[in-house]
Amino acid sequence: MMRKIYSVALLAISLLSAQPSHQEIADKITRKGLEDLYAFEMLEDLTQYGHRFSGTPGYDKAVQWAEQKLKEVGADSVWLQPVVVPHWVRGNPEKAVATIGKKKIDLSVCALGGSVATPKNGITAEVIEVKSLAEAKQLGERAKGKIIFYNRPFDKTKINPFEAYGGAVDQRSRGAIEAAKVGAVAVLVRSMTNAIYKVPHTGAMRYADTVAKIPAAAISTMDANYLSDELQKGSKVSVTLTMDCTTLPEVQTYSVIGEIRGTEYPNEIVLIGGHLDSWDRGTGAHDDGSGVVQCIDVLRLMHELQLKPKRTIRCVLFANEENGLRGARAYAKNIDTMKEKHIVAIESDAGGFSPRGFGVEADSVRFLKIASFASLLENIGADRIRMGGGGADISVLEKFGTVLIGLSPDPQRYFDYHHTDIDTIDKVHPRELQLGAIAIAILTWALAQEGV
Ligand SMILES: [Zn+2]
Repeated sequence: MMRKIYSVALLAISLLSAQPSHQEIADKITRKGLEDLYAFEMLEDLTQYGHRFSGTPGYDKAVQWAEQKLKEVGADSVWLQPVVVPHWVRGNPEKAVATIGKKKIDLSVCALGGSVATPKNGITAEVIEVKSLAEAKQLGERAKGKIIFYNRPFDKTKINPFEAYGGAVDQRSRGAIEAAKVGAVAVLVRSMTNAIYKVPHTGAMRYADTVAKIPAAAISTMDANYLSDELQKGSKVSVTLTMDCTTLPEVQTYSVIGEIRGTEYPNEIVLIGGHLDSWDRGTGAHDDGSGVVQCIDVLRLMHELQLKPKRTIRCVLFANEENGLRGARAYAKNIDTMKEKHIVAIESDAGGFSPRGFGVEADSVRFLKIASFASLLENIGADRIRMGGGGADISVLEKFGTVLIGLSPDPQRYFDYHHTDIDTIDKVHPRELQLGAIAIAILTWALAQEGV
């Protein structure tokens, strides 16, 4: 009898040790990912449709592509989630001409997303420069009939440009509201970047129902510096701004979802995601084509390596992150908390650059558990796991107690391309992009096996 128990125990031990360790699986994922560089191949496909702005045919094509691709890479089930999205149209190219004394200078501008148009012949007005919303408020009567020019640059001393973005973006999102309150007729906002060039950056802006809706445009950093120098010299600067944008009726479209069912805890969800839409400039290669193909590639790697996760891995490609967050809201609304629990969500929406680690929004116990997986990410240099993170789309899951995680790639070049004509595939490096997919796959695997 004793001998029998002994041999059963031995058998159990040998079976247990036959299970590959997380490190062995991480190594397999890395090798396979680098061998195929499939994320980049997908990004080439996805970006061939042009931009994927909400409400446009380009977005609809991306939906079809993503649905097909998720099936192709081996998701157990794939479905579309209906979302109603805004439909703003830029119209004819924007124009801005500065008049300084006898000189007339063309400025590089683009309408901010959601802006109203100018009258057909444009708005011509004197320009007043401010560095903040508070300064705009203080202008009082002096702002009447003027164009307010918000020109607070990124804080260059911030090591992480995402922090500098956070410190400057109120000018873009709320600038038109504060300017309208003091009677301004339009706003020009310095583009959200550290780079100095002639490329304007679009992005979301808001209006308030209580004040006039005035046209809002981004101006390139080089032109912003030029205007600022002239104003500092005491020149009188006026600008004629012409914009043709309109807001059309809302459109019904979809987020795209695919998953691999968990073998032991199928109702516990490890969500991975990015947003399928982009701005209507460039082709959204970094923002957020990269996140989309990385998340699809996680399912592909699991499937091809025949990894069977204990918990469900669900890839969600959200509609309309850029100008409404409607996809994320629709997703949160449709969660049936009786049937499933989202234990953790990982978002990739910070560009397809070399992964450095992950930012984690969780209590300290769960943070430490996730941080304990850092060693699995060491080989690919993505082992920096820090407190604080997440992302716009997954933020809607916070109320369910979900742990929120954001992939943190090298942040230095993201805002060179963000929301511009030059966010195109040639700015994405196949290996860097792939390493991001590998990092997400490794962490996703560990979380799907161990929970949190
Ligand atoms: Zn994005």
